[in-house]
Amino acid sequence: MAGPVLDWRDARHYDRTTDKPCRWCGHRTPLRDDTRRPAHKVCAERHTPPEEGTHLAPDQ
Ligand SMILES: [Zn+2]
Repeated sequence: MAGPVLDWRDARHYDRTTDKPCRWCGHRTPLRDDTRRPAHKVCAERHTPPEEGTHLAPDQ
């Protein structure tokens, strides 16, 4: 079963104490991706290839 690539509601992805430069755009963010590197949600989603079976299902 394929779940979401990242669950951004999880506290692991949010560091309230430290803003760090986003790995993609360089602007500071408290958000972390699944490898704990700083990244905005939109930036990570833009740069993360969609897993099969997620929201980008083509017409069958
Ligand atoms: Zn960013």
